[in-house]
Amino acid sequence: MTNSETVFSKIIRREISADIVYEDDLVLAFKDIASQAPFHVLLIPKKVIPSLSNVTPADQELLGHLLLTAHQIAKEAQLENGYRIVINNGADGGQTVYHLHLHILGGRQMQWPPG
Ligand code: 5GP
Repeated sequence: MTNSETVFSKIIRREISADIVYEDDLVLAFKDIASQAPFHVLLIPKKVIPSLSNVTPADQELLGHLLLTAHQIAKEAQLENGYRIVINNGADGGQTVYHLHLHILGGRQMQWPPG
């Protein structure tokens, strides 16, 4: 495992199991192991990008694909009443796994501001 690799790289390579809900050439989505809502899926790029702070203009298409895919996953999960997309970035952002990921949360009323 290289320094840039996390548990999410192992999930991409099927070295550890996950409940996968969507996959294409660029991204993978799977249920969060510690669900914070009735629906809680993580959507990750297969390309290893540690955090949002590390993206470059070359990632523009990939980032757009992530958001469009997040919407599609929420739509297929019938979250028509709404949902929340979260990207925790860095230590103060509460990031714990350093492989860029979107949290897709739904199925309950979300609160604001976040804690
Ligand atoms: P972060 O805190 O970095 O924004 O989110 C990381 C998320 O990854 C957490 O919600 C945590 O529950 C989830 N997670 C950590 N390890 C695993 C794992 O091995 N499998 C799955 N499915 N989720 C994980």
